[in-house]
Amino acid sequence: MKIDIAGSGAMGCRFGWRLHQSGHDVRLIDHWPDHVQAIRARGLEVISESGSSIVRIPASFPDDSKEPADLLIVFTKAMQTESMVQSCLHLIGEHTWVLTLQNGLGNIETIGRYVPKRRILAGVTTWTAELLAPGKIQALGSGDTEITRVDGENTAEVEEIARAMAEAGLRAVVSPNALISIWNKVAFNCVLNPLCTLMNSTVGAVGSYSGTMDLARRIVDEIVLVAKAENIELRREPILAKIGQQFDSRTAAHHLASMVQDMRSGRKTEIGHLNGAIVAKGRQHGIPVPCNELIDHLIRMMEQTRSYQSRVS
Ligand code: NAD
Repeated sequence: MKIDIAGSGAMGCRFGWRLHQSGHDVRLIDHWPDHVQAIRARGLEVISESGSSIVRIPASFPDDSKEPADLLIVFTKAMQTESMVQSCLHLIGEHTWVLTLQNGLGNIETIGRYVPKRRILAGVTTWTAELLAPGKIQALGSGDTEITRVDGENTAEVEEIARAMAEAGLRAVVSPNALISIWNKVAFNCVLNPLCTLMNSTVGAVGSYSGTMDLARRIVDEIVLVAKAENIELRREPILAKIGQQFDSRTAAHHLASMVQDMRSGRKTEIGHLNGAIVAKGRQHGIPVPCNELIDHLIRMMEQTRSYQSRVS
């Protein structure tokens, strides 16, 4: 398959690397000059369990390529989806599948403004990655990937895409529940990402507060109600159980949530596509979501007052 990775940061490079190793014709597309030039000059450096390796994968800016791909995987942060898709319109042909495995709500709707629903695939992945420097990623641990056509019509072609991803070691399956999984992951991220960011701390530290699970329950309850209004049935207990598991020191307690990393390095966070999206949808359906609203405000306040914070400290 001819595969374009639209947004080749941490996750885009990890997926692009695996698919390239599996024999696909992969292009890493990004607008960050240092990153694209580093991959062109030295190759992509991947730090994995088997050590460090250099992989030669074509990297380009969106305008460099002209021919549409068979599959275009959008892997920007959620608030960058619109600009990414706009700059890749010439790479999306009649027969191109566009897949989003990004976190947060709104990516499907954004892509849907440019691509017919019958060509959009969406899902979730539990793989993780870290961008260490331009042209260098860390790809440790493993994960699973679920995809579905957003209109629910999963044809043999969709199965073939999942099979190609599975053969590349990405453990992908076609799942009719992938849209529910997106919301489950949103609920999980709406609790852990902002709480860790507000505490500027690890998942384990947040879990050590005696009231964390009570707070988590309130946040998740609001999301379950909003999801129901969107015809998505979520079950509160498994979401809370998964959050509780993260506080176990043998699992992910030392993990630094991506929103903490974004806040620390002065980048914009995905809050508008997490708690912020719950607030917007709550308003739309007339459902009060005070916990999510407060959290949305606090994170936005942190983002907007960062320059003052550094002057005070
Ligand atoms: P990232 O910031 O490392 O990568 C995004 C890349 O997109 C960057 O290299 C950026 O330069 C590029 N980009 C942004 N806008 C662009 C544009 N208009 N044109 C061209 N390039 C553009 O992000 P990430 O950590 O790889 O995460 C991507 C998505 O996957 C997010 O939704 C994130 O929440 C989700 N996710 C991340 C992880 C993880 O471990 N990093 C795990 C699961 C899901």
